[in-house]
Amino acid sequence: MTDDKAISTTLIHHPYAPPEGFMAPQPGVFKASTVIFPNVAALQARNWKDKVGYTYGLHGTPTTFLLEARIATLEGGTDTLLVPSGLASIALVNAAMLQQGDEVLIPENAYGPNKALAGQELSRWGISHRFYNAMNADALAAMIGPATRLVWLEAAGSITMEFPDLPALVRAARARGVPTVLDNTWGAGLAFNPFDLGEGLGVDISAQALTKFPSGGGDVLMGSVTTRDHELHLRLKGTHMRMGWGVGANDVEAVLRALPSLPLRYAAQDASARTLARWWAAQPQVAHVLHPALEGSPGHAHWQQLCGQAAGLFSIVFDERHAREQVHDFVDSLKLFKLGYSWAGPVSLAVPYDIALLRPGSPWRGTLVRFSMGLEAVHDLQDDLAQALHGTFGRS
Ligand SMILES: *Cc1c(COP(=O)(O)O)cnc(C)c1O
Repeated sequence: MTDDKAISTTLIHHPYAPPEGFMAPQPGVFKASTVIFPNVAALQARNWKDKVGYTYGLHGTPTTFLLEARIATLEGGTDTLLVPSGLASIALVNAAMLQQGDEVLIPENAYGPNKALAGQELSRWGISHRFYNAMNADALAAMIGPATRLVWLEAAGSITMEFPDLPALVRAARARGVPTVLDNTWGAGLAFNPFDLGEGLGVDISAQALTKFPSGGGDVLMGSVTTRDHELHLRLKGTHMRMGWGVGANDVEAVLRALPSLPLRYAAQDASARTLARWWAAQPQVAHVLHPALEGSPGHAHWQQLCGQAAGLFSIVFDERHAREQVHDFVDSLKLFKLGYSWAGPVSLAVPYDIALLRPGSPWRGTLVRFSMGLEAVHDLQDDLAQALHGTFGRS
């Protein structure tokens, strides 16, 4: 944070130098592949890694630098890089931090494509991986070996929403000198500060899918990689430049436009999710409601220790006596909730998962449905859930 003001205020009143004589609520948008130099001396003198100097559109424009600075503020870091998707932010961190012979440790409940990238490309490049139980910091400590060069973290876990003891996981990695990277899409920089987890602990890198909360529109794909260590940032930036993972100014503009409403949207979707999660907890067809702010949800105490807020996201597990097809009928009967991936947009979404396939060996049985809150009135959403549930399962 730059000062003691709330992030909602800081994101709006963030340093910005408008063109002479023209100040407006939104910043200007600059587009370029080519950046024109006044003479050969200036072209040769320009430092390509310097955030002040512009060299080529791929390496940054006033528009991308502005969003990078605001995301760094949001996450409590100092430097941010933008990439074309949240998944590209995961790929960038892996490409910058790992080499042949290294090992990366990934939570069992990590975002699926993170695990798939490790299983395919990283494996083919001679980088091995193992999955760890994020709810057991001692198990992580025991798994870290001489080849371990990176530990991925995610809070809450993807789809099953377990909230890990983040400080304990970071402490275990730090004790062995292994850097940590958090997929901070869920927290978005609002639920907790990834670089200040208490007790002097913080992650080394925070990656985020700006596609989700910062965009909030369901119409942009973008990712960010944030650090609080300039040397580490330069290492990531070198890989970023060599890989050519730039972003388009129109997409950056959409995210800049959405940022001032981010804290309001996050809070509204949080409130809706808690209301509906509690409603589900009272429905007899449901065996588990997975939402870290609900007592009894895995890791609730860790969430309570670290977070004030939660993302507008939760899952339910239908009792295993209900056939998968019946749960699919329920999802198909929803009218306001649409069937689709991603989250944090204006439209509420639902996706069913077979928990046995998703988490082999997990304690849960049955069909899971993950809900993401849009911005509709919560009583309309609850009515929609009720009509679909009673239409499919009767009133029992
Ligand atoms: C959506 C998501 C991503 C990937 O973001 P994309 O922009 O869709 O590539 C990464 N991590 C998490 C936790 C996500 O939810």
